[in-house]
Amino acid sequence: MTIAIFFIFGLMIGSFLNVVVFRLRLAESFFWTRSKCPHCQSLIRWFDNIPLLSFFVLGARCRDCRKKISWQYPLVELATGIVFGAIGANFFVSSEWLSWVLTGYYCLIFSALVAILVYDWLYFEILGILLWGSVFLAIIFNLFWDWQNFSFGQNIWDSFIYAGVLAGTVGFSLFFFLVAISREKWMGMGDANLAILLGLFLGWPKIILAFFLAFALGAIYGIILIVLKKKKMKSQIPFAPFLVAGTLISFFFFSSVSAWYWSLLF
Ligand SMILES: [Zn+2]
Repeated sequence: MTIAIFFIFGLMIGSFLNVVVFRLRLAESFFWTRSKCPHCQSLIRWFDNIPLLSFFVLGARCRDCRKKISWQYPLVELATGIVFGAIGANFFVSSEWLSWVLTGYYCLIFSALVAILVYDWLYFEILGILLWGSVFLAIIFNLFWDWQNFSFGQNIWDSFIYAGVLAGTVGFSLFFFLVAISREKWMGMGDANLAILLGLFLGWPKIILAFFLAFALGAIYGIILIVLKKKKMKSQIPFAPFLVAGTLISFFFFSSVSAWYWSLLF
């Protein structure tokens, strides 16, 4: 039941995130403006605006002008629904108020990451307003969490702010180094800034797995594109989608992946 509620809530938020990306690009206001078809400008009827379903009912076309609707819309909705469902299943306990804060925080951060991913994918740019807003939120949350769970003699590694600042600093330094020696050819400054957020969110050592996966997935994707001759060696590939994918996997599967890894070594 919890999963279903979080999933449906995620679908709705995903639908909103599509709008966020679109309107931030055009610098339009978010609220109190009804969605329009980007092609023919006709207002979208409420029953054509149902996450996931409407896309298929409409046959991926605008009801008025028959122009194709991008697959981005249902994919972002579904992905957000699944992530929210997983967060609900893993962290939400309705009788514990701290779990409300925790799940709310996770949902907010992942929503921002989805929007950052889509925006970077479409426009090769990391959205500053979402990034720095989330960095601020992550710092506040980490401090709050440490304050709630403080006990004398606790291990420093159990401190969210300590693990987060360490991971963010290491991540930013590594990426900044890559940005500097390649003069922004391998990686943009936006990716280095994004590493700060991912570090604060994941903490140490989860960030290492996230980066490893991001580079691995990015490399695989690049090779596939070159083999399919869609891109040349030099062309630009947005990196935020791979960073967010790595973050997602590390966030949910870090303990199973590291257990598996150590079992290979010993
Ligand atoms: Zn239209």
